[in-house]
Amino acid sequence: MGAIRAVLLAASQNRWLRERASRYRFVRKSVARFMPGELLDDAISAAQDLKTKNIESVLTHLGENVSDRREAERVSTHYLQVLEKLHTENLATEISIKLTQLGLDLSPETCEQNLRRLFLKESPAKTLWIDMEASGYVDNTLAIYRKILADFPNAGICLQAYLYRTKADVESLLSMKPCIRLVKGAYSESPVAAFRTKREIDANYFALAQSLLRGQTTGVVRRVAFATHDPKLIRQITEFASAQGISRKQVEVQMLYGIQRTEQVRLAGGGWRSGVLIAYGSYWYPWFVRRLAERPANLSLLLRNLVSD
Ligand SMILES: Cc1cc2nc3c(=O)[nH]c(=O)nc-3n(C[C@H](O)[C@H](O)[C@H](O)COP(=O)(O)OP(=O)(O)OC[C@H]3O[C@@H](n4cnc5c(N)ncnc54)[C@H](O)[C@@H]3O)c2cc1C
Repeated sequence: MGAIRAVLLAASQNRWLRERASRYRFVRKSVARFMPGELLDDAISAAQDLKTKNIESVLTHLGENVSDRREAERVSTHYLQVLEKLHTENLATEISIKLTQLGLDLSPETCEQNLRRLFLKESPAKTLWIDMEASGYVDNTLAIYRKILADFPNAGICLQAYLYRTKADVESLLSMKPCIRLVKGAYSESPVAAFRTKREIDANYFALAQSLLRGQTTGVVRRVAFATHDPKLIRQITEFASAQGISRKQVEVQMLYGIQRTEQVRLAGGGWRSGVLIAYGSYWYPWFVRRLAERPANLSLLLRNLVSD
């Protein structure tokens, strides 16, 4: 892992920095590059705009590691309101949730209860996505996912290609017909758990992508979404799909709001399924710093905004 990436990932966990970051206008201006605003209405407007470009959307309310039972319940209630609002606005937009936001640190039972409230409300025609967090959470997250999937076939889980275990996790889920969003992984992981080099991570990503696409074709995978901005991987995946005779509408690429916008439009225009994850909310600090870690060149955005302030 690059030294800058390691420093940024450590900074993303730093409470002192988190409490101070939002006081600076140049930081808030930089955050605006990756989220349309802090309010749900800002996210909904962005989703409406994407819809006009034939781009699908997924909303996520920023927050993680909630340590208070009532706060976890409030997050769940907020998402219920989001589902209601999306219904009223007639948007096909889905939602994606971090289990630590619903109380996973308090107890898996509390978290599952909060999550079930959302599945009971969500339309079965839409996938309700569960994010994957740092590797220490994978076992608990998958255990909850399996229980939920047994009752709600529209449950989706994010899996991370940087973890050695992911291949086995995919295989263990196939008998349940999962929906899987494949990412590279955004956390700082030890070499005991995760591939370290981009070459290894990308190779594992592509190998997993091929088996997930095959699984979707044979029906053991209900839906697969490739959440990456990596142009080389996207090319490999789309070329593989074409060679296998898989239709473009069966190949879905998801990106983050504000990143690779031209590519999002190009994919949608070419008939591939193109989606964008839109984050909103005031708890943006750790999320934003992880975006900097993914591409340290984004630090120049911070510097430019600092100089122009
Ligand atoms: C829809 C979606 C959902 C996600 N959910 C999760 C999750 O639940 N758990 C999890 O661990 N991770 C999640 N991630 C993050 C993911 O793990 C990666 O950290 C992130 O997508 C960057 O990796 P990459 O695949 O784009 O490839 P990289 O190799 O990091 O980047 C490839 C290229 O993409 C562009 N790029 C990548 N990131 C940025 C950026 N921040 N700013 C500007 N350009 C960039 C650059 O051109 C870069 O060269 C999610 C990502 C997406 C898109």
